[in-house]
Amino acid sequence: MTTPGAPPGRATPPVRAPRDHPVYMALDIGGTKLAAAVVDGEGTVVDRARVATPAGDGNAVLQAAARLLAGFGDAPVRALGVGAPGVIDPESGRVVSATGVLPGWAGTPVREALTDLTGLPVTVVNDVRAMAYGEAHAGAGAGHHRVLHISVGTGVGGALTTGGRLEHGAHGTAGEVAHLLVPERGPVPCGCGRRDHLEAVASGPAIAATGDAPHAGSLLGRALAGLLAVLDPDAVVVGGGVAQIGAPFLDAVTAAFRADALPPLRGTPIVPAGLGTDAPLVGAALLATALAGQGSG
Ligand SMILES: [Zn+2]
Repeated sequence: MTTPGAPPGRATPPVRAPRDHPVYMALDIGGTKLAAAVVDGEGTVVDRARVATPAGDGNAVLQAAARLLAGFGDAPVRALGVGAPGVIDPESGRVVSATGVLPGWAGTPVREALTDLTGLPVTVVNDVRAMAYGEAHAGAGAGHHRVLHISVGTGVGGALTTGGRLEHGAHGTAGEVAHLLVPERGPVPCGCGRRDHLEAVASGPAIAATGDAPHAGSLLGRALAGLLAVLDPDAVVVGGGVAQIGAPFLDAVTAAFRADALPPLRGTPIVPAGLGTDAPLVGAALLATALAGQGSG
């Protein structure tokens, strides 16, 4: 585990931080549930809570999230990190665009609203980016310089970290893999509406419709073969609900990748995520620690 900004070689405390040690709050906003956690500066979850996502607009969702966070009481919280669906502007923390996960979500000023509601410094990133950051620092990507994170669940998402830093790109979509073209039409539309995109053939709903996780895995592996020639990461981390199917899916991803990739790329490790459903919470909290570190000089 690495604390962003910590000098190399700093000793990690061997015991749990005392109760008055500064902690961070994390929030994972999803279409069906809101998950929250208190996380220490090393990325260890020390308390957690969840509630069903309320019906209503973005403001209703954020009000419920603030109530969930208030339930943690008076812990000495330094900052809040948020993983949220959609394309998030990293500067303003506003939702630039969102497909139908939450009604009326696009345009929601997540950072501004949660700053007002909690009084905390707030950092907001896309939920898959939060997962990628968590895995890169405290999970399966730790120790690798450049990591492509793939999340396969209700949708198919991706994010890229280099040297532990998230790559956002010019339009906030760097690492996004959902819209890679695939050579067949899927049983469900991609979030963008097309059927010939990776998300349409390899998402959880697509696999539920076909009942064929290995075939979906193969299509993801073939897409990775082309993608890795462009990005050339040190490792690929595969997480999300579908990845938890385990071997039938991941073995198909790896086999198809090795069959199609350029020879120098075939040894690139493709590894399962290590943090499970905590990944977005740990990642969001560690992003908040990085923010707090900048704030204190
Ligand atoms: Zn698409």
